[in-house]
This record gives sequence, structure tokens and C-alpha cells, in this order.
Amino acid sequence: MEEKLDRLFKECIQELEKIGIDINNKDIGKIEINISKRNNKRYGACKQEEPDIKSKYIEKIGRRKIVKYWKYNKHIIEISKWVMELDEKIIKNTIMHELIHCMPYCNNHGAEFKRYANYINNKLGYDISRVGNKEEDYKKSNLEYKEEKQLKYKIECQKCGYTFYRQRQNKNFTRKYRCGKCGGRFEVINLKEEKYGN
Ligand SMILES: [Zn+2]
Ligand SMILES: [Zn+2]
Repeated sequence: MEEKLDRLFKECIQELEKIGIDINNKDIGKIEINISKRNNKRYGACKQEEPDIKSKYIEKIGRRKIVKYWKYNKHIIEISKWVMELDEKIIKNTIMHELIHCMPYCNNHGAEFKRYANYINNKLGYDISRVGNKEEDYKKSNLEYKEEKQLKYKIECQKCGYTFYRQRQNKNFTRKYRCGKCGGRFEVINLKEEKYGN
């Protein structure tokens, strides 16, 4: 499985080079890629190490202040084991998603991430987005998808964190209702969509 991952990783890098994105660049630093040992639900993850201290910024989440960096010199990409069983195109889509996170200003799914994703999607025919559809990806790979028994939606108050689960969801829910505990806005998370880790 490691050999397959190495081969696909190299293919991705070559494809990026063809459209003018150079990964072997000192602005990006070192990239390692591994198959995740844990049984993760997400497609993959990109852990950032060795931050460039000059790129420090503070992100505020509610009252919390978190120190973050726009640029890191070491990136460790992990691809989940179950992804390695899917169609190669889908494995490469996951690798590409995580490779974008290695670029400066791309450690979240913000504007710069989207700019790269759109460019790669248009030029190379990928389908890089914030979330993937596990059921669809299994179907495309001619594999049986074993549905995990779980409710479909998670509703979370953005202010106090109060959380509950629903099977069906009114599409105007977040506009119509506020949190009964604190009056905050709700966010609806579709649990059938699986994340690509940052
Ligand atoms: Zn609340
Ligand atoms: Zn991501």
C-alpha cells in the first residue's frame, strides 16, 4: 500500500509542476506522506510543523485567542487506510487536497486554499473541495458502502456550543431558529459528508 501511495504522490507532484505549481520549493519546505495508522473517519490530514515565526498571527474564536502561522517548513500528510482502497483518482484527489494545505496561507479552507483548488480542478480535472461524499466515492470505486448507523445532521450553537442531532433538517432552520440557551446562531453539519483534514 505504501508503494502505491508513493507512486500516486509523485504523479500528483508532476501534474502540479506541469501547471506551474512547484512543490519542491523552499517556501513550502519538507513534505512527508504516510498512511494513517489509526482508523480515521476523515479522508486525510496535513499536520504542520516548524512554523515560520515571521508568519505568526492571532486567530480569535469567541473569547479564545489562538496563535497560528501562515507558513510552515514541515508538513506531514496522512491518508486514511480506507481511502487507499478507493479508485486511484479519488486517492489522488485526497493527496491534492492535502498538498494545497502545504502551501503558504493555505492551512485552512480560506480564500487562498479555494484559489488553488479551483485552479487545479480547472486545469487537471480534479474535484477538490472542503468535504467529500464517502458514499458517492465508494460507489464510483465499485465498492460496497457499509452505511454507518448514525443520524444525518448535527446542529451546533456557534456561541455556547450546545449540540443536538436530527435525522431530517428544515433548510431554513438556521435562519428561523436561535439557541434556546443563549440566543446564538446554529450551524448545521451534515454528518454524511466526510472532512478532509487540514
Ligand atoms: Zn447557545
Ligand atoms: Zn482540508
